[in-house]
Amino acid sequence: MKDLKLAGLKAERSSIEVKGVTIGGKEIILIGGPCAVESSIQMSQSAETVKKAGGKILRGGVFKPRTSPYSFQGLGREGLNYLVQAAKEQDLLCVTEVIDAPSLELVVDEIDIIQIGARNMQNFELLKMAGKINKPIILKRGLSATIEEWLLAAEYILSAGNPQVILCERGIRTYEPSTRNTLDLSAVGVAKELSHLPVIVDPSHAAGRRDLIASLSKAAIACGADGLLIEMHPNPAEAVSDGAQSLHPEQFIQLAGELGVVAESVKRIFACGETKDEESLESLRNQIDDIDQTIIECLAARMQIVKKVADQKRLDRVKDTAREREVLQRLINLGNELELPSELVKKIYPVIFEVAVQFQIKRKLVKEKDLDLSLISHLGSK
Ligand code: PEP
Ligand code: MN
Repeated sequence: MKDLKLAGLKAERSSIEVKGVTIGGKEIILIGGPCAVESSIQMSQSAETVKKAGGKILRGGVFKPRTSPYSFQGLGREGLNYLVQAAKEQDLLCVTEVIDAPSLELVVDEIDIIQIGARNMQNFELLKMAGKINKPIILKRGLSATIEEWLLAAEYILSAGNPQVILCERGIRTYEPSTRNTLDLSAVGVAKELSHLPVIVDPSHAAGRRDLIASLSKAAIACGADGLLIEMHPNPAEAVSDGAQSLHPEQFIQLAGELGVVAESVKRIFACGETKDEESLESLRNQIDDIDQTIIECLAARMQIVKKVADQKRLDRVKDTAREREVLQRLINLGNELELPSELVKKIYPVIFEVAVQFQIKRKLVKEKDLDLSLISHLGSK
């Protein structure tokens, strides 16, 4: 491909660095967020999830090139503020799509990475404008573009002066209707064979359905993708666009937790952000809650046995002070070994004994009364 003067393969692969995040290095970069920016709260929640998952970049469309003119077209300037603010709150980078000169001008100084969508991959004037700015560009593959056309689109940006292009495979249109598009994973390998540019994969717009996102994401990493761009929404059922393909926050975090081993298998790295801090207040409280539950379950099991014991004792032998004393002493000794204050054992056990004794007495009385009644009715019937 002789015209890939700048996009064509070089001795070294390119990596793109933005504010400490390197795309095309050893680390797999995760980009997540909703299809469209809808509200401030939606973006804050999304950013929180991306951060928890170990994502580095928050996405969200504020200019939406929609198939139908009647579909939601994006919040524009207002949405941009929500996206930028939410990314800042979580110390994430942000990316949004531009569709023309005014939208590019509006976002260029506020956004870390600019996206050119599939529908604009051959909007050559837009590509040239993207070549004039000093921000990385994610260039999505067109709906029906060949790899060569895609790389030539990248060449437009590079030749206009911007060397920071990230290719994004997002599925191509085929005859197969069961998915929205067909994710062309071989394109990752082919693009990397023909070009030095980093390649990321967007499984969301390829699949169009959330059940396939996890496996496609893993496959993309296995195929050599440098990153993933995944749609996630705090409440996909309410999403104004692409809800069906958007992961729930928990799914996004879970998937991120599973990417590390896949990355390692191809000599890359990905660290999920959600590291469990066993010493955090929340975690310590959870541990206490678990133990309290076990204590109650053990007490309930003890009571079941107490019930059986009652059936084997005579009413005047229910309380056995000598045994109580012996058990208490044994437990105090055990507590001492485990550094449990003996006052606690001394306070708790008499209560447990007392409740058990009362329980047994009541049970025996009820049984005796039932016996008397049945005896009376038996005699009465004679
Ligand atoms: C998007 O990322 O929101 C989007 C519209 O993607 P594509 O251009 O790949 O359809
Ligand atoms: Mn979308």
